[in-house]
Amino acid sequence: MTMYEQGGSALDMVEAGAKVPESDARDMSVGYGGLPDQSGKVSLDACIMDDQMNCGAVCYVQGYAHPISIARAVMEDTDHVMLAGAGAEAFAKKHAFARKRLLTKDAKRALKDWKKHQVSGNNHDTIGVLGLDKSGKIAGACSTSGRAYKLPGRVGDSPIIGAGLYVDGEVGAAAATGMGEHIQTVLGSFVVVEMMRQGKSPDRACAIAVDRVIRAFPHLKEQAAFVAMSREGEYGAHARLPGFKVCIASEEGISIYDANYTEGL
Ligand code: ASP
Repeated sequence: MTMYEQGGSALDMVEAGAKVPESDARDMSVGYGGLPDQSGKVSLDACIMDDQMNCGAVCYVQGYAHPISIARAVMEDTDHVMLAGAGAEAFAKKHAFARKRLLTKDAKRALKDWKKHQVSGNNHDTIGVLGLDKSGKIAGACSTSGRAYKLPGRVGDSPIIGAGLYVDGEVGAAAATGMGEHIQTVLGSFVVVEMMRQGKSPDRACAIAVDRVIRAFPHLKEQAAFVAMSREGEYGAHARLPGFKVCIASEEGISIYDANYTEGL
């Protein structure tokens, strides 16, 4: 909001927004402190997109603090959309991005517990940030450490343009959290933006994307949640299951609410 008030760009705002949970060890599904894969390694995925169809992404990045900033550099400094794994890390090194040991004691302990009990609970909490600046430009960012205790090498929806995030400057933007395998199967964020293009409200568009997930995976009750904003600044959200929190920051202040959902737990 400080950036917004100072006339900053939507792209700078969403990148800065995503960097907050990326730095926060207490957030165990994004960046530093994220839960590791089954081998004990933390790998990060992120993507960013502006109102002009420019986009960048990185996936399976280890040892760097801010994957969202690396994704932005992929967007701005290369003619690629996505860099993965060792290639993304070499790119980050060349651009002198800050390195960081990502695995915290708490995350290590959580992996040990999971190995004993094989129960991981509902810890979907990827960050999706959508921003509209004073000039009316819209942008989005998405960042995650992915599914807890995934197989090494697994990449979910979050860094995939159209799945974890989609932005169209003529329509609006959407981002997702939840079971990546479900969200990427239906290309959820793209569906939300296309529904808004057809005149649906952001709330309704998110509910339609949730319906697609339920149709594809009727018996696997996992979280799939979307947040959306139109280019006019109307926002909405919808989740498959309870527990999806949306934070709205505007000139009127900051509020947090629980999104509507389709199914009980
Ligand atoms: N969507 C993320 C993924 O599947 C995980 C999450 O949101 O919890 O990688």
